[in-house]
Amino acid sequence: MKKFKVAALAGDGIGPEVMREAIKVLRATEKKFDFTTEITEAPVGWAGIDAAGKALPDATLELCKKSDSILFGSVGLPDRDPTIPKEERPERAALLRIRKEFGLFANLRPVQLPKALAHACPLAKERQGDGIDILVVRELTGGMYFGQPKKTEDLGGGNFRAIDTMVYTTPEIERIAHVAFKAAQLRRKKLTSIDKANVLENGILWREVVTRVGKNYPDVTLEHMFVDNGAMQLMLRPTQFDVMLCENMFGDILSDEAAAIAGSLGMLPSASLGATSNENTFGFYEPAGGTAPDIAGKNLANPIAQILSVALMLRHSFGLNDAAAAIERAVKTAIEAGNRTGDIFSASEANARKVGTREMGDAIAAAV
Ligand code: NAD
Repeated sequence: MKKFKVAALAGDGIGPEVMREAIKVLRATEKKFDFTTEITEAPVGWAGIDAAGKALPDATLELCKKSDSILFGSVGLPDRDPTIPKEERPERAALLRIRKEFGLFANLRPVQLPKALAHACPLAKERQGDGIDILVVRELTGGMYFGQPKKTEDLGGGNFRAIDTMVYTTPEIERIAHVAFKAAQLRRKKLTSIDKANVLENGILWREVVTRVGKNYPDVTLEHMFVDNGAMQLMLRPTQFDVMLCENMFGDILSDEAAAIAGSLGMLPSASLGATSNENTFGFYEPAGGTAPDIAGKNLANPIAQILSVALMLRHSFGLNDAAAAIERAVKTAIEAGNRTGDIFSASEANARKVGTREMGDAIAAAV
């Protein structure tokens, strides 16, 4: 039987509540499929500061290093001690540190809008087809956010010149392209590569390299699209997309645009992947949203983003595609049965029933 080690870092706010439901669903999935996970929980964020004086305690980091993947909740509480410097606050001290420590270069953000949640989507119903299912793959460590030089020069007379540099190398593009093509092979086998090859040198290289990498994946249909058109097409005809591959900044923007389609942050999981060794890809799995302090501790949070993060972990770190698909199907079943947390509830739906975090987790675990 396959066995995996998972570090579960629930963090702050709604983190512990939604993590509990995710672990519940993971345990139900283990019973149906031939694998086990050794889950070790550890504090991070303000919980880390309270327990060990640091947002990412040394023991938590050590646990992560010994694990096959990290299942993360979220960190940060805006109202806690404003005197703590930015670098020590959880968002930076925990999240950025983990990204760097584990070389997480690929960010995967699936956006799924089941037909039953058509009302939660800001797009007109006729644009939603039979439901929307897009995976945005974003390069996470290169491009304009990290390129050098990066500075602001004082030109005198109250004028300044700000410089950011967009840089990509062939290997950086190759490795993210492989991630995207492999993900497409597990889905509907279509990849749309986003660039700005009509204006940017980076875009020309991006398009060349992605096209070359694509030759290794003849079963995946590759198309190229300029980023401005991509932004527009997401609103006009989102059902045309399967996997969208983007460099860092374009992916930052388009993944949020795509996320709006899903109607609630509580529905959106994400994966950040590092290098693959011995067939095992180290990954960091978390909901796209934050700690939602406004609803924390009230059994109101939607646990689906955290539960779908488990599905991503099974697929991308452990290669358990059937088990991952079973969780995704179970989420759909629970929604189709009318279960709605507050964020996806609409009084206009005839068969919808408002449920709490725990009840939604129970419904999904039962459906697995
Ligand atoms: P947020 O995502 O926590 O909340 C925004 C809105 O979405 C709120 O109304 C919240 O109730 C709702 N929401 C979010 N997740 C939900 C869920 N699962 N179910 C139902 N509703 C949900 O963003 P914010 O309020 O800007 O940030 C709060 C804190 O979270 C801040 O300290 C911020 O820095 C932190 N944050 C952390 C992460 C992370 O850990 N990766 C990401 C984003 C924000």
